[in-house]
Amino acid sequence: MTDFLQACRVAIGAAHVLTDDTDTAGYLTDQRGRYTGKALAVLKPGTTEEVAAIVRLCSEHRVPIVPQGGNTGLVLGSVPDASGKAVLLSLTRLNRIRAIDPINNTMTVEAGCILQHIQQAAATAQRLFPLSLAAEGSCTIGGNLSTNAGGTGVLRYGNTRELCLGVEVVTAQGEIMSSLRGLRKDNTGYDLRNLFIGAEGTLGIITAAVLKLFPQPKAQVTALTALRTPDHALRLLNLAQTHCGAALTGFELMSDFCLQLVAKHFPPHRAPFSKNHAHYVLLELSDSESEAHASEMFEAVIGTALEQELIDDAAIATSIAQSKSLWQLRELISMAQAHEGKNIKHDISIPISRIGEFIRVTDVLVQQTSPGCRMVTFGHLGDGNLHYNVSPPVDVKDTDFINQQAAINRTVHDSVDRFGGSISAEHGLGALKREEILRYKSPVELRLMHAIKQALDPHSLMNPGKVL
Ligand SMILES: Cc1cc2nc3c(=O)[nH]c(=O)nc-3n(C[C@H](O)[C@H](O)[C@H](O)COP(=O)(O)OP(=O)(O)OC[C@H]3O[C@@H](n4cnc5c(N)ncnc54)[C@H](O)[C@@H]3O)c2cc1C
Repeated sequence: MTDFLQACRVAIGAAHVLTDDTDTAGYLTDQRGRYTGKALAVLKPGTTEEVAAIVRLCSEHRVPIVPQGGNTGLVLGSVPDASGKAVLLSLTRLNRIRAIDPINNTMTVEAGCILQHIQQAAATAQRLFPLSLAAEGSCTIGGNLSTNAGGTGVLRYGNTRELCLGVEVVTAQGEIMSSLRGLRKDNTGYDLRNLFIGAEGTLGIITAAVLKLFPQPKAQVTALTALRTPDHALRLLNLAQTHCGAALTGFELMSDFCLQLVAKHFPPHRAPFSKNHAHYVLLELSDSESEAHASEMFEAVIGTALEQELIDDAAIATSIAQSKSLWQLRELISMAQAHEGKNIKHDISIPISRIGEFIRVTDVLVQQTSPGCRMVTFGHLGDGNLHYNVSPPVDVKDTDFINQQAAINRTVHDSVDRFGGSISAEHGLGALKREEILRYKSPVELRLMHAIKQALDPHSLMNPGKVL
């Protein structure tokens, strides 16, 4: 491998070939600190041509490649296995915004651009790039595309796939394929762009993309409502969509226990109500007219919801600071759950109309599997996507609880399957759910996925051991 590493140094510069443990350590552990892999080297190319040169060398020497962006993924997709045979290809030096076209409403960015920088550049051009998630300060657009990330704006703007008009990709053979034309219509054969989006780096390396931009809303108004059950939340969703149409950009469900954890671990963050309620929904409206118009719409929805007894209480934010603090309640849940100890996460989707029934039925089944466990249920209800997480019973040690992980996963995922849902709504499969998906995808789907992988990456060098 000395020849290979020497050739890498020539291709991208010795300073960007890291082999020393102290230099590579930061790249090899996953986001939640559960797993540390090994790599032959961490390679940090700075251009698409350098990525292509590295991929050709890897192909020639049969060295597996694990692409990595911000390493915020949650399914062990961006870290190598323990063999030490793969190189970790960090895309973070490909961080240029190549062009913004406000008339075409597009932006061409390199894969290593941090999501927050893209949002800021769009705002500077008086446009909105609506992808938003709690990891936006460190995740990259290449990672967002490769996992088809969701986030808080999916209800109105769709997943990352819907926000992308073209990609530049380095294939497993080291060729460069580009569809960076910014076209909204192009029916000229198979949709290659969409093969690479959501592929988690198993088919090629995304090096750049054309993203869709939108007009900036004139006003964003946020409200927190308190209600009894997820079924009430679904009726509220229907009411808000009927009244507000596309202006409804956020609809997030949180159980009372979620907010109790936030209040416990992050005081003084708490729901602004005089008493606790069983569930809460955070709603966001983005309005193209004015703040007054948005508030009027909100007041009408909330007034009707109170009349129809869909909600028991509501608080509308009257300032940006109040709006931020309502959103913080939602965003702090994952961290609060982590402070509470080990937990078992499920990132699932269910047809929206069946979510209430799913939660009722599955809560009972999980209690049968792990008596006394505490459900931390929250998520993007408007997209049918729940973080259906499980924390241990108060008196059970973390290690004993984690031993029940396989049984709890089986209970939850089988129930998701019975309700016609997906066991991975947002985070992908990575290495974590690769075995699990075999139980739920049909043999035909699996065969076609293997055929695509074999056609595009015949030597299985692109992120092996992930997805398939
Ligand atoms: C606090 C927190 C909140 C989150 N919230 C959400 C959320 O709301 N919605 C959501 O969908 N996800 C969420 N995530 C998960 C994660 O942030 C997303 O999956 C994100 O899109 C990953 O981007 P990244 O740059 O960190 O990718 P990485 O973690 O580095 O990589 C993710 C996968 O993509 C591959 N990859 C990365 N870059 C490339 C590339 N250029 N070409 C080919 N393959 C590549 C990797 O090999 C890996 O398989 C959250 C994570 C955290 C920590």
